Amino acid sequence: MSAARDLSEQRTFLIDLTKCTGCRGCQVACKQWNQMEAEKTTFFKGEGYQNPSALSEHTLTAIQFRDYFHEGKNEFAFYKAMCMHCNDPACVSVCPVSAFIKTPEGPVVYDAKRCIGCRFCMIACPFGIPKYQWSKALPLVVKCTGCYSRIKEGLIPACAKACPTAITYGGRQEMINEANRRLTVRPGKYMNRIYGLEEAGGTSVLYLSALPFNELGFRNVTKRPLPSRTWAALRFVPAAFITMGGSLAFISWLTHRKEKIRKEREMIEAEQASQKEDRP
Ligand code: SF4
Ligand code: SF4
Ligand code: SF4
Repeated sequence: MSAARDLSEQRTFLIDLTKCTGCRGCQVACKQWNQMEAEKTTFFKGEGYQNPSALSEHTLTAIQFRDYFHEGKNEFAFYKAMCMHCNDPACVSVCPVSAFIKTPEGPVVYDAKRCIGCRFCMIACPFGIPKYQWSKALPLVVKCTGCYSRIKEGLIPACAKACPTAITYGGRQEMINEANRRLTVRPGKYMNRIYGLEEAGGTSVLYLSALPFNELGFRNVTKRPLPSRTWAALRFVPAAFITMGGSLAFISWLTHRKEKIRKEREMIEAEQASQKEDRP
């Protein structure tokens, strides 16, 4: 599928983890731009020092922290987790109401108005990215949008703009060329691998690292594009989960519908009341 398309201009992140200082400017910029709620966190909870500990319904990008021993010294490494904006996104392929869309520019965006809450996207995503708003009465799915609204205005994503050292942003081919240049110029500095070049058929987020990616917590993902296989894979998801997903989807759809009707009724009543007041 991707072979037939020209992806060279897809907007792409090159994240060089050897240059990441763990300042979390990207995390803060993302929160600010997307007006995400703060979340109550616990320091030293879970692996590493990251805070918050993982992506969540309130956190679209998070710096993961790893410490390790190298030549007898304790070293640190950081990993910016976010949606990979896959070339052939599994989330898009499984969504029964087309709430996920792969834009021509590259970012994979999500239309909350269409979502019925089935959460198939969460099962299908090989990177575990979409999160569910468990804290909300009317939960939806949330994930990084690639700052599509900014891109449409000719800006770069808020996290890329805020990053002082590690993120380079541009056309996919240009980012691949730049990654290869760094691997060639400093072969001892990096693992000889660009994560995202082929994973899940290729992504619009590429990483360079000094450490093996699995040691940093990266998932070992197939190189094949997933959409053709996603529904087949979903067959292996326990039936109870699918049934539960379907039931939740139906309940969510009903709740959305009831809410819509309630709002429309309130608007009509308010309009009628104001017309009465206007009468002489
Ligand atoms: S990483 Fe997951 S959520 Fe993001 S585009 Fe790929 S399949 Fe979709
Ligand atoms: S691209 Fe935008 S939404 Fe995604 S992590 Fe960066 S700032 Fe957040
Ligand atoms: S802003 Fe850049 S250097 Fe700072 S934590 Fe994020 S990716 Fe790392």
